[in-house]
Amino acid sequence: MKKEEKEIIYTLLKTADAYECGYKREKFAGEPLFVDDEMVECPQSGNIESTAEHSNTGSPELSIQPSANSTAGTDKGLSLDELNAKILRCTRCGLARTRNNVVPGMGVENPDVLVIGEGPGHDEDMQGLPFVGKAGILLDRMLAAIGLDRKSNCYIANIVKCRPPENRNPMPDEQAACFSFLEAQIHILKPKMILCMGKIAIEKITGQNISINAQHGEFFEYNGIPVMPTYHPSALLRNEELKRPAWEDLKKFKRRLDEIKAN
Ligand code: SF4
Repeated sequence: MKKEEKEIIYTLLKTADAYECGYKREKFAGEPLFVDDEMVECPQSGNIESTAEHSNTGSPELSIQPSANSTAGTDKGLSLDELNAKILRCTRCGLARTRNNVVPGMGVENPDVLVIGEGPGHDEDMQGLPFVGKAGILLDRMLAAIGLDRKSNCYIANIVKCRPPENRNPMPDEQAACFSFLEAQIHILKPKMILCMGKIAIEKITGQNISINAQHGEFFEYNGIPVMPTYHPSALLRNEELKRPAWEDLKKFKRRLDEIKAN
């Protein structure tokens, strides 16, 4: 749909609303910003779908919501920079309305390890970078202890790329809307191993119900890539006693990575 068509529909609805309620509403700061829909061909179905994307402002918009994986195939054909630029414009789910910045991820291409968290927190939302608050500092220390860091051999991303308000868990529909981006990132990055920080990340990657307390340190698989869940750094900050088992997980993870790199 064209920007002008959206504006006409919005104005008609607003006028009808004003007449029915007997008042005239003035233009307000949260007025939607309308843009033309970008038309994307969906390779599986041959259908044309609207992605209704716009700039990274968090402004509300009348948009057509594509299905969770509708662009996964086309996204996988993009370069990492192209994909991340697309993520920066995304308005597929409601988190676009409350975010300050989108957080696509950061790190090196062709990393040894992809680290996956659940979603940006306050500091990440303000800076547009993943794991930069207290939990991020701890994550960097954990990675450094096994010879990993985001500047040389890791990439860090999240299940959802925009901050859930009040740091709540991302809702299933938000995870579903965003997951094709992570799928495409994994396809492009081709990490040797994946480290999932916390329950939400490992459950979305495996599609299974996982108890972190019972199953941290176990190996799973995603498209042939070994995946291990361990405690989220935020959990370690809340409970020091979890640091020892997390360290045992990391040592096990490192042994497996060394084996893969040796072959
Ligand atoms: Fe788009 Fe993901 Fe942000 Fe939702 S969380 S608006 S799907 S980038």
